[in-house]
Amino acid sequence: MTASCLFCRIARGEVPSRKAYEDDEVIAFHDINPAAPVHLLLVPKMHVDSLITTGPEHEALLGKLIALAPRLAKEQGCVNGFRVVINNGPDGGQEVYHLHIHILGGPRPWKRL
Ligand code: AMP
Ligand code: ZN
Repeated sequence: MTASCLFCRIARGEVPSRKAYEDDEVIAFHDINPAAPVHLLLVPKMHVDSLITTGPEHEALLGKLIALAPRLAKEQGCVNGFRVVINNGPDGGQEVYHLHIHILGGPRPWKRL
């Protein structure tokens, strides 16, 4: 599964991305089809399908991801607020089945979401 997963491949550097942040556990890169002037995807390097498949063992990682969001938004120049979105499963509108947090910001109007 992780061999062909797009975000696992981006995390491994096999697929190019415009990186905004990286450490041993997470990576953030610019969305290829931005819905706002700033649109990052913040992704754990470990493969997790979505929040639907997370449990107590993921609490620390999830906390780290959420805690990183304001820092990355600020670094991208979001001086007037930002939005975080996590799509989960078909009815949640998820397209890529590797957990990711959308970080959106910048002056409005935005294109869509
Ligand atoms: P979601 O609908 O929450 O699964 O969001 C998937 C997001 O991944 C969409 O906003 C896409 O534009 C974005 N995306 C798809 N392929 C790539 C890629 N190769 N690099 C960066 N972002 C991508
Ligand atoms: Zn993956």
